[in-house]
Amino acid sequence: MKIIEIMKRKTALSFEVFPPKCETPVEAIHKTLDGLNGIDVDFISVTYGAGGSETDNNTFEIAGLIKREYGIESVAHLPCIRFNKEDVIKKLDGLKKLGIENILALRGDIPEDFEGFGDFQHACDLISYIKEHGDFNIIAACYPEGHAECKNRIEDIHNLKTKVDAGASQLITQLFFDNDYFYSFMERCQIAGIDVPVQAGIMPVINKNQVKRMASLCGASIPEKFAAMMERYGDDPEAMRDAGIAYAADQIADLIAHGVDGIHLYIMNNPHVAQKIYEAVRSMISLEKK
Ligand code: FAD
Repeated sequence: MKIIEIMKRKTALSFEVFPPKCETPVEAIHKTLDGLNGIDVDFISVTYGAGGSETDNNTFEIAGLIKREYGIESVAHLPCIRFNKEDVIKKLDGLKKLGIENILALRGDIPEDFEGFGDFQHACDLISYIKEHGDFNIIAACYPEGHAECKNRIEDIHNLKTKVDAGASQLITQLFFDNDYFYSFMERCQIAGIDVPVQAGIMPVINKNQVKRMASLCGASIPEKFAAMMERYGDDPEAMRDAGIAYAADQIADLIAHGVDGIHLYIMNNPHVAQKIYEAVRSMISLEKK
């Protein structure tokens, strides 16, 4: 099923997982997926290492098994930074064989040892190409605080409009810890004429080191309220886990109250966290869309 159909009728809930590291058998993902039992999740997306790592084949394999063995709709991430057109055709054929209909089409981060683009310089180029070569539902990434490489948020929103016009039917945001960034981003989208559904990307932070790494990687601002939480609970793993879950649940409650199209949880392959958040927000998620 194309997940845009789900977005039309309800506040979507999705999870993002990553393939086990190369040396770990792909079956390790079952531990995460089995632990999600009982959660009414609309789809699960699977990341893909843009660096060209060995995990790339596992992305499709895992997206396939989520659909086949767990009966949950899946999304395969596809970063194009190193691809030429032939590579993409092969990837699309692989996805078709697995019955995967949803692709998160990305450019990928530019690595330090970068030797130049293949045939695709921006995600919008990949999106147009996929559109021409298959019947896929295409999702794209967006950045409430602006993408790190972009000069300013206005230019970034114009680039996002190009991506939507190229054929992205829905968007998922980079993680953020301050909902106000999301609300002003949605206003910019409206001004720019971007009217596809946008899912808010939320990461429950359950340990101190994780947030430092994530925030520096993706440029998310740390609000005062969040910093105070880290300061108070950061050295106590149990308290930090509970506080991180409560913080994310609070963000989600506020987003749903403001009519968000969906929530995409970066669960870091941790089913316990997914279960706790689900418990806290399930009644809000299942409310009819206003
Ligand atoms: P683009 O849309 O191409 O944007 C990149 C930059 O170029 C931006 O600054 C944008 O403003 C600018 N730009 C875009 N189009 C144009 C244009 N036409 N002309 C001029 N400038 C333009 N990375 C992975 O490697 N693997 C993953 O699995 C993965 N999953 C992700 C999931 C989500 C939900 C998100 C938000 C990000 C994910 N990423 C992943 C990270 C992503 O690859 C990086 O953020 C990357 O730097 C940008 O990718 P993009 O698709 O947004 O690129």
